Amino acid sequence: MGYNKVTPELIEKFKEIAPGRVFTGADINEDYTHDEMPIYGKYDPDVVIEVASKEEISAVMKLCNENLIPVSARGAGTGLAGGCPPVAGGVTLVTTRMNKILSYDLANFTVTVQPGVLLNTLAEDAAKQGLLYPPDPGEKFATLGGNVSTNAGGMRAVKYGTTRRYVRSMEVCLANGDIIRLGANVAKTSSGYSLLNLVIGSEGTLAIITELTLELIPQPKETVSLIVPFEDIDACIGAVPKIFMAGLKPQALEFMESEIVYMAEKYLERDVFPHVVDGVEAKAYLLTTFDGDSMDALDPIIEKASEVVFEEGAIDVLVADTPDLRAKAWSARNAFYEAICAATTELDECDVVVPIDKIPELLKYVNSLEDEVGIKIRSFGHAGDGNVHVYVLREDLPREEFLEKAEIALGKMYDKANELGGLVSGEHGIGHSKFDYLKKSLGEDSIDLMYGIKKVFDPNLILNPGKVCYKL
Ligand SMILES: Cc1cc2nc3c(=O)[nH]c(=O)nc-3n(C[C@H](O)[C@H](O)[C@H](O)COP(=O)(O)OP(=O)(O)OC[C@H]3O[C@@H](n4cnc5c(N)ncnc54)[C@H](O)[C@@H]3O)c2cc1C
Repeated sequence: MGYNKVTPELIEKFKEIAPGRVFTGADINEDYTHDEMPIYGKYDPDVVIEVASKEEISAVMKLCNENLIPVSARGAGTGLAGGCPPVAGGVTLVTTRMNKILSYDLANFTVTVQPGVLLNTLAEDAAKQGLLYPPDPGEKFATLGGNVSTNAGGMRAVKYGTTRRYVRSMEVCLANGDIIRLGANVAKTSSGYSLLNLVIGSEGTLAIITELTLELIPQPKETVSLIVPFEDIDACIGAVPKIFMAGLKPQALEFMESEIVYMAEKYLERDVFPHVVDGVEAKAYLLTTFDGDSMDALDPIIEKASEVVFEEGAIDVLVADTPDLRAKAWSARNAFYEAICAATTELDECDVVVPIDKIPELLKYVNSLEDEVGIKIRSFGHAGDGNVHVYVLREDLPREEFLEKAEIALGKMYDKANELGGLVSGEHGIGHSKFDYLKKSLGEDSIDLMYGIKKVFDPNLILNPGKVCYKL
């Protein structure tokens, strides 16, 4: 695709649209060249525009479409797949100034927000009104526009589902600058193709989200977390289906192996999980949270869950039933990413998703790659929904050797996930880093259909080029 360069005349027009918020050359913050995975490359935008309204987005899109200028939307830049970096240059359109919670509709349990509102801001604001926005990805300072564009998952997806489930409607700016509404504030629909669901998870390749109407639920009054150590990962994951078969509905259900827990504890400079119980070393853990209307309602759930996990070989159950204890229990889990980053010079990652019962097989295979490929690997994940996060660490390896080994190890992991009936990404998305794996996993026909859809929305291919369904 032959794109045009951003000319001085166009920059002047952008400045008229967004006065004081258009940046070029040395004034562009280096952060805007990458997301949280700089290993996938750094790409300079020609111009950064910090937009403040949908009217500004519309005017920018119109100009860019007429002049064949690529446009990449950017929220908080916390993505892990190379979604927002402008691989074809052009305009980076930053939404973080569009950070207003516009209105609540308490009769319909919804809230309408601008796309740059941070997840944490909405979570805190909704809680003040006794409401919960259920999606809970690990990074609380991502934007809701970014969360919807990646269909972010997170800890509570096992009970409440991913972001997609909570998007009632959205307003989007199309590639040609037109603004339209997709979906409606209704609880169900059978009204033609779901354009709303096409845009959810489309990583800025189909349209720019300018407003979102999201569903909320009443805030559960009480929560309790259990730390459950096991002698090995097989027993740990084996307990997961038993928890569901016992009729229990955990709000969160995470698994972790001891190495990554120790890494996080070292990073936090305190022990959080028991390492040895009655002389038995814990090699894997489940960390789970249950919610309910009262502690009285939660007591039998704790009892039942303890019974089930002990039957499956747990060596202890620690109950965290106060806000302090819960925060402490989750502090290690929430520090995994930072702890891994602190322990290595560089890293690569994958977030494959497999059927839940295949997690032990995948993990065993992933762990075997440490010796086979000769590279440090750490993994953890959402046991309740089969989403495994695997990190490949460079440590002291020379860069070229690391990149070579990481590619081999990740290639093998994606192949294994495929063989086990899984998919390339459970929640982080494809960006420009995982296209080859996606194509291998889904096959030409699906990729061709995706590319066809892309061209219907964006005939000039100006929206976030080279992402998700094709390479530049
Ligand atoms: C420590 C850490 C923990 C994380 N934990 C989780 C987790 O548990 N679950 C999970 O799913 N993810 C997780 N992530 C990944 C990341 O936070 C999510 O992908 C998040 O949704 C990205 O939001 P953002 O605002 O940072 O988007 P960005 O990184 O800025 O952009 C992501 C994609 O969305 C597009 N986009 C952004 N805004 C718009 C818009 N308004 N219109 C159209 N397209 C847009 C961009 O073009 C890009 O393709 C984690 C990341 C970190 C660093």
